[in-house]
Amino acid sequence: MIPIRDDPRCFISAGKTLNLNGMGDQKSILDSVRRLIEQLAPTPVCEACIAERLKLAPGKPVERHTHELAGIDGFERDRDACALCGQTKSVIRKH
Ligand SMILES: [Zn+2]
Repeated sequence: MIPIRDDPRCFISAGKTLNLNGMGDQKSILDSVRRLIEQLAPTPVCEACIAERLKLAPGKPVERHTHELAGIDGFERDRDACALCGQTKSVIRKH
């Protein structure tokens, strides 16, 4: 058996029995992402830095969460200089 739990991406191919666990993890990651942005608010931060801070795999999972947060509770996606890495790219901040 593959050690499924350590890699969220495996949930996609792991089938029905693991869907609930996968959703639970996604929700807690979303919470962590939101808390991090709130701690840094109103400073913008990019997805790569969020992933690094939260020790998540960089790329789509974090981006999906920032998309989900954008537009609610003052969260806003923008193209700006990230406060942590200094690169101008897609960032999210809370006003
Ligand atoms: Zn950054």
